[in-house]
Amino acid sequence: MTVRVGPAGADGIGYPAALEKVRAFGLDCLEVTFTYGIRMREADAERIGEVAGRSRIALSVHAPYYINLASEEPEKAEASRRRVLDSCRLAHRMGAGCVVFHAGFYQKRSAKQTFERIREAVEDLHRVVDRKGWRVRLCPEITGKRSQFGSAEELLALMDATGCGITVDFSHWFARHGGCDDYPALLCRLPRRFHAHFSGIEYGEKGERRHVRTTETFFRPLAEALIARRAEVTLVSESPEPYADAAMMRRVLARVEKKVRSGRRRPGEAPPRLVSGKR
Ligand SMILES: [Zn+2]
Repeated sequence: MTVRVGPAGADGIGYPAALEKVRAFGLDCLEVTFTYGIRMREADAERIGEVAGRSRIALSVHAPYYINLASEEPEKAEASRRRVLDSCRLAHRMGAGCVVFHAGFYQKRSAKQTFERIREAVEDLHRVVDRKGWRVRLCPEITGKRSQFGSAEELLALMDATGCGITVDFSHWFARHGGCDDYPALLCRLPRRFHAHFSGIEYGEKGERRHVRTTETFFRPLAEALIARRAEVTLVSESPEPYADAAMMRRVLARVEKKVRSGRRRPGEAPPRLVSGKR
């Protein structure tokens, strides 16, 4: 399977133990979240990286929530830049490939002005990352609120302009588009390999309200689209129960993949017999 699945966060038990839990749940990626600030030491980041490497668990890092690279206020823009760079430094130490962040807000500016400011900020971040030799990829995220920079179109344009990566939060995209689950239409515009988030979501007029538990029914259309596309994805569960829901997503993906495989028959081969009754 080309889709790696895992949770976001350490579930209150610390990352070394969380990595054990990821393994016990049969999962293979983990997102380290610096939601409200960065307090991790470099030595700890290295240790987490070693444990993850031994267990073949792919790591990613989520920078703190409050980031506005487009801010007019120099101190806020600088603090945002700092938070992304500190996340990159620790991500490099732990061997995490993607650094996820919400790039910014429009506030009083036009979408175009906001885009330009963010493009310049990302180019500046790339220069620092290159100079430091950090092996990480900046992956700004598709955001769920319409007041926030980060539609799929904006992020695809940012990728083109700067060569950055992308975090496709499918539930944010769903909420931003008033409950659209036409994932194949989105997937055909994306590279085959990317970082992603998913969870159940409540939304309203303005987009995302909050993340909720993920149901099988809500996940299935995405699972089918990812398998059909043969996407190479690290899919992080951001639900309030990220471990249990990631395990459910893993099961659904395995089932969908099995079904697709059994449907691909060699020419001349007899079709599978239909078995009636509940499976
Ligand atoms: Zn997300």
